[in-house]
Amino acid sequence: MFDTVLVANRGEIAVRIVRACRELGLASVAVYSDVDRLSPHVLEADRAVGIGPAPSSESYLRGDHLIEVARSAGAGAIHPGYGFLAEQASFAADVEKAGLVFIGPSPESMRAMGDKIAARLRMAEAGVPIIPGSLERAAGPEEAARTAHELGFPILLKAVAGGGGKGMRVVSDADALPPAFEAASREAEASFGDGSVYVEKYLARPRHIEIQLLGDQSGAVVQLGERECSIQRRHQKLIEESPAPLLERADRDAMGVAAVQAARAVDYRGAGTVEFLYEDGEFYFLEMNTRLQVEHPVTELVTGLDLVQWQIRVALGESLDFCQEDVSFSGHAIECRITSEDPDRGFLPATGRIDHLEVPSGPGVRWDGGIRTGSEIGPHYDPLLGKLIVHAGSRTAAIARMKRALGELVIHGVETSVSFHLRVMEEEDFGRGHLTIAYLDDHPELLQPSAGETRLLAVAAAMLEHEGSGRGSPTRIDGPDGRGLSTWRSSVWPWQT
Ligand code: ADP
Repeated sequence: MFDTVLVANRGEIAVRIVRACRELGLASVAVYSDVDRLSPHVLEADRAVGIGPAPSSESYLRGDHLIEVARSAGAGAIHPGYGFLAEQASFAADVEKAGLVFIGPSPESMRAMGDKIAARLRMAEAGVPIIPGSLERAAGPEEAARTAHELGFPILLKAVAGGGGKGMRVVSDADALPPAFEAASREAEASFGDGSVYVEKYLARPRHIEIQLLGDQSGAVVQLGERECSIQRRHQKLIEESPAPLLERADRDAMGVAAVQAARAVDYRGAGTVEFLYEDGEFYFLEMNTRLQVEHPVTELVTGLDLVQWQIRVALGESLDFCQEDVSFSGHAIECRITSEDPDRGFLPATGRIDHLEVPSGPGVRWDGGIRTGSEIGPHYDPLLGKLIVHAGSRTAAIARMKRALGELVIHGVETSVSFHLRVMEEEDFGRGHLTIAYLDDHPELLQPSAGETRLLAVAAAMLEHEGSGRGSPTRIDGPDGRGLSTWRSSVWPWQT
């Protein structure tokens, strides 16, 4: 049916898809913008085609051009990855119209879940609990205020076409509503070309728990367990894990059943995720992501299934060769998203050239990266440099392994979020599994360098000055844990070249 896949994406996910193709014996065609010419996804693919200038609107988002490139490169299928065109039903439909295979669900399933209001209606019909709130767009701030009074403050204004946490505003009282409505609507218009918003009850301290699904073309759907994604900043995930800590078996199973119901309601095929908010033993449908997710590796590690290979195999017409009862889970997996952002300065995006990269290895460690030594990190794309994922027998062992692996990760030349992840791995509530989406509001100290790190920076400055003065190196300098510096590593420190 197809033997070549065009990967319509960049960075770590494009590398991930190229690798899956290779293991399945399929050829891959990478695409790249002018600034990505020497990126790992380009170097690892069988072929690569330039698609234009850096801005994604002139390269990775040009659906028609990508379809043309696929045809002329002899690719019979397009894998969209996540982001960019991955959830554009019209792109999936155009791919099919061009006689190619879109590796993902049908455009109809994507449409049904792409509009948050339509999805809420569909889920309510299918008997899946939804977050209390309206089932239609708010015509204006007055109408939103009426709904808000019925629900009771605080409420959340949400973009109907939303995604990536954009077009959302929490509103705690009636006075704050009109300006928040205006702001959410404006942001939604700018991000999605559709400024409509609706009102949901704002849950103060829920957890974000989601269920991974896999469906085939015959209608079989299995659920592959949950992921805990509560550690977020501005509604964007930073750390994910599976299984979710301290979750009752009955709640986990009920969410699994609801997720399968949700997928069946839209004739879902391929990999997809149903997201829930979970609070006080109740769970509510948040949305369905009709694509592969950034955090898919934690599910892969606990189930032993390759989700990207399964996406491709389903697209090739293969049926799932296992059923729900065959799915088993082992151990605990955690993922840290490593971004080019400075956690000590409000996650300010950082740019620069990666002049040294060392990735961790050893038992239970996986690095899904999109960078190499020499990569230029510019302002054009998502700041995700790579994902560090660990797997171990228990949650405690996985945290210890993640600390070890973060310590081995060396990214020199651009600020990264590594020090933030180390702080979370050390934090007590995280260790106990006490997680909610307000975790960072409750732990603002994690957004500041710890006392140990500040001391270490001072030591580093002294050491560089000492070396610069030509008086030779000091014999031993202690790291924050009292061990010699050579045994304590973090990618943020300048001497690690
Ligand atoms: P997007 O599609 O923009 O990613 P989601 O609906 O998936 O938006 O929500 C993203 C995050 O926003 C959730 O993980 C959660 O942290 C927060 N959120 C969304 N809806 C609510 C709500 N009703 N109450 C509290 N938090 C919410």
